[in-house]
Order: sequence, then C-alpha cells, then structure tokens
Amino acid sequence: MKENVLSACRPELVFRYFEDICAIPHPSGHEEALADYVEAFARRQGLACRRDEANNVFIRKPATTGHEAAGAVLLQGHMDMVGEKDAESEHDFLTDGLSLSVEDGWIRADHTTLGGDDGIAVAMMLALLDQTPEPHPALECLFTVSEETGLNGAWAFDPDGMGMTATRMINLDSEQEGVITAGCAGGVRTDITLSVGTVPARGTAVTVSVAGLAGGHSGAEIHKGHLNGIKLLGQLLLPLVDEYDFRLVSLSGGGKDNAIPRDGTATLCLPAEQVSGFCARVAAEAEAIRREPSTVAEDRDFVCAVTPAGEAAGLMMDSDGTRRVLTLLGLVRNGVLAMSAHVPGLVAFSRNLGIVRTDYIQGGTGAQVSLTFSTRSACEHQLDANQTELSCLAAALGATATHRARYPGWDYAPVSPVREVWIRESQRLLGVTPSVEVIHAGLECGILCGKRPGLDMISVGPDMRDIHTPREQLSVASTARTYALLEAVVTALS
Ligand SMILES: [Zn+2]
Repeated sequence: MKENVLSACRPELVFRYFEDICAIPHPSGHEEALADYVEAFARRQGLACRRDEANNVFIRKPATTGHEAAGAVLLQGHMDMVGEKDAESEHDFLTDGLSLSVEDGWIRADHTTLGGDDGIAVAMMLALLDQTPEPHPALECLFTVSEETGLNGAWAFDPDGMGMTATRMINLDSEQEGVITAGCAGGVRTDITLSVGTVPARGTAVTVSVAGLAGGHSGAEIHKGHLNGIKLLGQLLLPLVDEYDFRLVSLSGGGKDNAIPRDGTATLCLPAEQVSGFCARVAAEAEAIRREPSTVAEDRDFVCAVTPAGEAAGLMMDSDGTRRVLTLLGLVRNGVLAMSAHVPGLVAFSRNLGIVRTDYIQGGTGAQVSLTFSTRSACEHQLDANQTELSCLAAALGATATHRARYPGWDYAPVSPVREVWIRESQRLLGVTPSVEVIHAGLECGILCGKRPGLDMISVGPDMRDIHTPREQLSVASTARTYALLEAVVTALS
C-alpha cells in the first residue's frame, strides 16, 4: 500500500483530498478521471450533482435549515493542471500519479508540476462539502475543465442548465495569500492576413534573426516593456526600405499569442553588392535600439544575427508586398496601450503581436503573411476600439483582419459584499488586512461574470511558488489559513 505522504499536513481532510487528486492524472483536456472522482464523492455524500459534456461538475449542498434566505454562494476552481516536467523526468501525465514530497512546509512533486494550481481548490471544495461549518448558506461548487488552455470549461458552463442560483462567488484560483483579486481583463484575438505578390528571387539571400529577448506573459508581464521579437524585425528593417533594394522572402516568429515573442526571423534577398552595407546597417540599427532609453536591461543584450546565405532561389515578395508588410509591422501599436486612471499601476489596455508566419501559395504566385495579436482590456468599449483600429490599419494596407475568441473582462466593482466579508473575517481571524488587486490577464471569473452580470465575486487562494513549472510548490501553512478563512467566510455569508 502506498504511504500517505501528506498525512501529517493539516487540515487533514483538505490534504487527504489533495493527495487523492494528485494520484489521478488530470492534465488539461484529460479531466474525465478526476471528474469521475468528484462525481463519486457527491454520490457518496448524497449531494445533488450534475456533469456537462465538457466534464464540468457542479455540486449543490442545501443551506443549514433557517438560512435558506441568504441565497447560495458559488465556490469555483479548475480541475485541470499544467503538465510540465524536467528533461530527466520520465513521468507520463496521462497515466501516472504525481510523486509528492514535503519540505520546510512546502509540498512539491518529483520533477513535475504539482497542480496545486488548481488541485488545492478542488480539495478545499470537497473538504468544505464534506464537513461544512454551521451555519452555512446553500453551497454551489463548480469544478471546471481546461482553464489553462483557454478557459474552455468556464466557456462551456451553462449556469441555467446546471442549476446555478448563486449571486455571490468565491473563485479559488489565486496563488498569493493575503491578496484578493477583484477584477481581470477581457480580451480578443485578431488575425491579420496580408496577401502579397511574388516574383522570382534574385541576388543574395540574407537572414536577419533576433533572439535572446526576455519575453514573458502577454498580460501579466506586458507592463515590463519587453521588446517583442516580431515587432523588432519591423523596427530593424523598415528604416532601410528606401535605402536598400531588398525584398522579403518570409517572416517567422513567436509560438503563442499570449506570450511576448523572444525571437523572430526575416529572410530577404538583395543585390550582392549591397549585402555588406546592409548587414552593417542592420547591426547599427540593432545597436541603436539596445541604447534606446526605453529598452529594459534584460533585453539589452539581445542577439541580432545578419547572415548572408548564398545565392537567392525560389520566390520572394514583390516591392509593394515587402513595403506593406514592413509598414504593418512598423505601424501597429504594440505593448501597453493605456494605463488605468483609477487603479495605480494597472495596465488597462494592451496588445501583443504573438505570432507571424509566411505561407507561399502552392503552385501559384503570391504569398500570405499572417500575424496574430492578443489584445486585453476589461472595458468592452476598448475592445471594440481595438477591433476598429486593427481592421482599419489592415484595410489601409490591403490586408484583412478577423477577430475571434473574444471574452469579457471582470470590471472592478466599487461595492462588493463578498469582498468586504473576506476582508473583515481575515482581520478578525488572522489579524491581516488583505490587499485588493485587479489583474491584466484573463480569469474564469471574467467568463462567468459575462454569463451572470452583476455576480459579486472575489478570487483568492493559498501561497504557491513557480506554478506551471516543475518547481511548483504549495504552502501547507498558507493552505491551512486560507481554508480556515474560507470556513469563516462561508458561515458569515449564511
Ligand atoms: Zn489556475
């Protein structure tokens, strides 16, 4: 029999459930087994339970007699975890349970992510449903899927179909104790496709590649002002478009629309006699950008390699196409677009050019350059304005813009009874006044808020370190405090 590594951790019930959860493989997109486990729990407890086609699970526990009038409180967390492991690990996230250990009060897994994000939320909800402090209001617990890969479970959730009645909600997907998240950004993806003419390549092929940029998350780290590897290609090449007789062959860079690209590559052709002058000019532009006052320290040592690659062959873009592509790269606004006038230091509106690729039309002439953007704002009007701006810019350059996967933000509510209760109980129980933050990234809360406008909610959670990496750790003591506070808040809301 497998020993229980977490048996000494308190609260015992929370960590017993957490250890069970860690034994069940549950990476994003593969939550069936964990959903089965949660459903079986509800059956054992005699609680009403529904499961939808996406595998979201919804459990309801009636209020303590006499406390029905308070209305239900929704608790919510996601079942899926990010599956990341060290190179030496042979762990299979689809078949293997995690191998846990506890050191200095922190739980971690053996060379893999732990899935404290957000398995601890699942464990806390099960423990709370199992032993609910009295009195309590009706509890509605929502266990969602595939949060980490696009908030898909929250998207699929049908509040009416699942029987949700709550007008108050506590999301348990934060990673910092003592911080209440009270708002998040919405967003939209935009694809701009630019069709260009092509001609037979001539002259010398040259590759311009940039690498070694700091990058980062397109929401949470956009305020750091990091250079964007794709945009940087435009900054390097647009100033040279009148000076040298070069034509683009292709642009490529970035892998995810929500990550700031750390590299980018342009291939181009130009007359042999211009190559050495061109290479020197690109290097000089790179050096000038390194010295710009807005270039942050982590980006200053980026690598810019300009490499002649022999005689040109195949096709290249025509002069008009080259100019339009570089003009788009040069003109499109990127990074922080506006700061909040109400919340100091909060980015209100941002855009990240995440991916560029070039496709030559098979057997014909012409090529397509495709750029993918991720734009964020909690404000619907700013998201509308973003779409207008990108559509107009695209149209002016003979390109098309399509907008997709738009999701609503969660706007900060000046008055929030749930937030007030959490703050008051934290002061009473722990002697701590939590800070209230609004974040510039997407949360399931935004989607749920879009489905139930006016939902009064907060997002909280215990301390975790290095989530989404094999170094992920969860604090035992912080979990204990967060759970005790959650119990007190549930009673206070009854
Ligand atoms: Zn999470």
